[in-house]
Amino acid sequence: MKHAQSQALFARAQARIPGGVNSPVRAFRGVGGDPVFFKEGSGAWLTDVDGNRYVDLVGSWGPLILGHAYPPIVEAIVEAARRGTTFGAPVAAEVEFAELLCATVPSVEKVRLVSSGTEATVAAVRVARGFTGRDSILKFEGCFHGAGDPFLVKAGSGVETLGLPDSPGVPSALASLTLTAPFNDLEAVERIFNEKGKDIACAIIEPVVGNMGVLVPRPGFLEGLQKLCQKHGVLFVLDEVMTGFRLARGGAQELYGLKPDLTTLAKVVGGGMPLGAYGGRRDIMSKVAPEGPVYQSGTLSGNPVAVAAGLACVKALAAPGTYARLEQLGLLLEEGFRAEAKAAGVPVTVNRVGSMITVFFTSEPVFDYASAKKADTAKFGRFFHAMLQEGVYLPPSQFEAAFISLAIGEPEVAHVLAAARKAFRALGD
Ligand code: PLP
Repeated sequence: MKHAQSQALFARAQARIPGGVNSPVRAFRGVGGDPVFFKEGSGAWLTDVDGNRYVDLVGSWGPLILGHAYPPIVEAIVEAARRGTTFGAPVAAEVEFAELLCATVPSVEKVRLVSSGTEATVAAVRVARGFTGRDSILKFEGCFHGAGDPFLVKAGSGVETLGLPDSPGVPSALASLTLTAPFNDLEAVERIFNEKGKDIACAIIEPVVGNMGVLVPRPGFLEGLQKLCQKHGVLFVLDEVMTGFRLARGGAQELYGLKPDLTTLAKVVGGGMPLGAYGGRRDIMSKVAPEGPVYQSGTLSGNPVAVAAGLACVKALAAPGTYARLEQLGLLLEEGFRAEAKAAGVPVTVNRVGSMITVFFTSEPVFDYASAKKADTAKFGRFFHAMLQEGVYLPPSQFEAAFISLAIGEPEVAHVLAAARKAFRALGD
C-alpha cells in the first residue's frame, strides 16, 4: 500500500497547521508514522488520496453510526442548504429537534443546541455552577469531556495519547477546582464528597468511557454515583457525547436506567455535522439565558443544515432492530478479535459495550485509568499499522474506542477479522 499523496499533503500541512492536523488525535503520534488523508467515504468504506480503501472503524470518532454519506442525511443537508445555510434566528426544525430529543431522552426536559461536544460540556458545567452556587467539579481520571478548560485535568483521548500533563494555558486556580476520582471507584467518590461535597457543583462522567479506550462501568457504579450525587446536592452530569444515540436511542442512561440532572450530547446526534446539545431538568435549564442569568450563546447554534442532518440521523435510528444489529456486529467483532489473538498467542483484553470496542494489549482486566495504562502501546502501534496495511482504519491510539456503524455488513466483518488474523500473527512472530 502506497501513501505518497498523503505524505506530500502532510508535509505541506505541517508548515501551516500545528502538527499538520486540526485536532490532535488525527495525527499518528500514538502509533508512529504519518496520518492518512482521505478523499471519500461511502457506507462502511473510506478511500484515501492515494486510492487505498479501508473498512472504517473510526466513523469520524463516533458520529457516523449510519456510515459515510448516508443518503437520507446527505439529502436532508442539501435540501436545507438550498434554503439558506444560517439565519441567526429561530427556525421550525430546531423546535422539532428539541421536542424529539426530549421525547427520546426523558431526563432531558429542556435542551439547548450548540455546535460541538466541548461547547455542550463547558456550558453544562457553567449551568451546574450557576444553579448550585458551588465552584468545584468532580471528573474521573482518563475521562475526556472536550477541550474546555475545566476538563484538561487527568483527561483522556489526545491528552493521554500525547502523554501531556495537564495543559499549559489552563490557570492553576481553575484547574484546582477540578477534583478527580478513579473510574469505577465509588469509595473514592464518597471520600471526596464527604470532605468537599458542599463545594462541588457537579460530577461529570462518561457513562461508558471511550476516551481511555472502552472502559465498562461495574454493575452498580453509575447508580451508586447518582445516589451519592443526590445525597450531597451535587448535580449528576452524564456526558453522552459518545454514548448518546449510540448505545441505545436514549443513550447510556436508557441502558443503565439512570436519570441524570444534565446530559450532554454531540457526535451521533448531529449526523456528521457540527452539532451538540445540553439539557436536563427544567428547573436547572431555566437558568440558561435569556430565561435565566447563566450566559451561553453561539452564532451558529441550531444551524439549520446541522439540525437537518441531526433530524435525519435520529429519525433513521428509530428503525426497529437498529441497536440489536449493532450489538450483533459488535459481538461478532469482539469474539473474532479474541479468537484471532488467542490463536496467535497474543494476550489481549477486549472491552466492548454495543458498538464501542477496544482491543487492549494486556492480559489483565482494564477497568480504570491505571489498568488501561498497563496496555502495551508499542504493540498496539504495530497492530494498528498492520491493520492499516490490510485495509482497516482503526483509531490511531490505544486509548480510543473503535466505533461500529450500521453500514458494516458480514463481508466487512470478515475483512476486518482476516486482517486481524494477519496482524496478530505478525505480532506473535
Ligand atoms: N465528551 C466526550 C465524551 C467526548 O468523547 C468528546 C470528544 O471526543 C467531547 C466531549 C468533545 O466533543 P467535541 O470534540 O465535539 O468538542
